[in-house]
Amino acid sequence: MPDAGASTMRADIVVVGAGPAGIAAAVAASGAGRTVVVLDASPRPGGQVWRHRDRASLPSVARMWLDRLDRSGATVLCGAQVVDAGPGARIGAEYQGRALKVEAQAVILATGAQELLLPFPGWTLPGVLGVGGAQALLKAGMDVRGKRVAVAGTGPLLLPVAAALAKAGADLRMVAEQAPPEDVRRFAVSLWRTPRRLLQGVAYRASFLSVRYRWGTWVRRVAEMGGELIVTYTTGRSSWAEPVDLLCTAAGLVPSTELARLVGCEVREGQVVVDGRQQTTVPSYYAAGEPTGDTGMEAALVEGTIAGLEAAGRGSGEAGKLKAERAAHRRFAARAAAAFRLRPELRERVEPDTIVCRCEDVPMSAIRHGWSGRQAKLATRAGMGSCQGRTCGAALEYLVGMARDTVRTPLAPTSIGVLADLASHLDESQGAS
Ligand SMILES: Cc1cc2nc3c(=O)[nH]c(=O)nc-3n(C[C@H](O)[C@H](O)[C@H](O)COP(=O)(O)OP(=O)(O)OC[C@H]3O[C@@H](n4cnc5c(N)ncnc54)[C@H](O)[C@@H]3O)c2cc1C
Repeated sequence: MPDAGASTMRADIVVVGAGPAGIAAAVAASGAGRTVVVLDASPRPGGQVWRHRDRASLPSVARMWLDRLDRSGATVLCGAQVVDAGPGARIGAEYQGRALKVEAQAVILATGAQELLLPFPGWTLPGVLGVGGAQALLKAGMDVRGKRVAVAGTGPLLLPVAAALAKAGADLRMVAEQAPPEDVRRFAVSLWRTPRRLLQGVAYRASFLSVRYRWGTWVRRVAEMGGELIVTYTTGRSSWAEPVDLLCTAAGLVPSTELARLVGCEVREGQVVVDGRQQTTVPSYYAAGEPTGDTGMEAALVEGTIAGLEAAGRGSGEAGKLKAERAAHRRFAARAAAAFRLRPELRERVEPDTIVCRCEDVPMSAIRHGWSGRQAKLATRAGMGSCQGRTCGAALEYLVGMARDTVRTPLAPTSIGVLADLASHLDESQGAS
């Protein structure tokens, strides 16, 4: 078993990310007799959907997978932030304040997704946050009892977040879905093909039945007045304003592809390109879950299992059966993507003084159409802050078609000492490859 106290670890397979995809990959690869190291920046395994403080509070499917991970024999290092990677399946991380180098025969990238946060007037005000961030804060114990809350944006994630807010005692005022009513209706009808998802959606809606749930409605702007947020909604034909204490917005998810791009994996339309075995275009690198597309927890489990089996060299048996399941999840994801595509009017909300890079306070007026991400960085510092363009890069891609063409090490802030230590490790790998 790899020695978790060493500064260099060796394993057959290293999995980056301990969300559903990474957990399933680790369980499958360990079950196939491989030594596995799992690295995750979070304090506990579970990823976004199973983020928790107390395992007993999780749904039974989450507890089952976490128990499987415990029993798998994989070495799981939480609080390990991967900041660099190189060819030859070498990973560099910061763990407990020092450099951790992992050498493996294969890497499974299960790095999940992040929220797409679209700028509009007022989006940087305190009390305006993404639905994923709101969900994470709720799971960390945020007290919303009695607070007036609106949930606005798009996609299936609106419903579980609205349900969670209602359950936590928020005074939920409105759930606004930007997609046109006919698209949402068509999507809802298509759910007969996935009865479990249909029932789940009905259960979420039932938990905030008395609250308005409007389709074809989006937030035009937010202003702060007398300690409350004044949200202006629009349907395109009429607009009106309502006060709230918290506004949770959703514009969908962006696959986290930074690590994949760093090692040279092909990324197309924002998603890591994988073959039927979940292998990327770089030898020894596999990807599973959200980096390969916005497909949800169940697809992440299936893709993670396939990647784990394939990386372990056991892909011909069980993985074959899982591929049909994966295809069904992808069809569902395609239907959801079509129904909840962002309407062009969301671009028109941005005004010249709207901040587009909140780390570096860059307004929209500073950005030129046709610039690449690199040009925006050089001319305005957009993307040079602590998020390294994760937030503004995806937003500017949507707003002005700016290519996210820059990724560099370290992928997350770390110390010079860690960087120096890791540089020699990854340099050695380049010499070896
Ligand atoms: C903020 C947010 C909240 C969400 N909440 C919900 C929800 O409540 N319900 C729901 O159904 N879906 C939710 N989703 C969707 C969710 O992402 C998927 O359904 C599911 O969790 C995907 O599983 P995954 O394993 O692909 O990714 P994730 O669960 O996102 O797991 C990825 C893991 O990789 C780790 N990681 C990434 N990069 C690195 C790195 N460089 N170094 C170390 N570790 C790294 C992360 O810490 C994370 O734990 C949420 C998504 C986001 C972005």
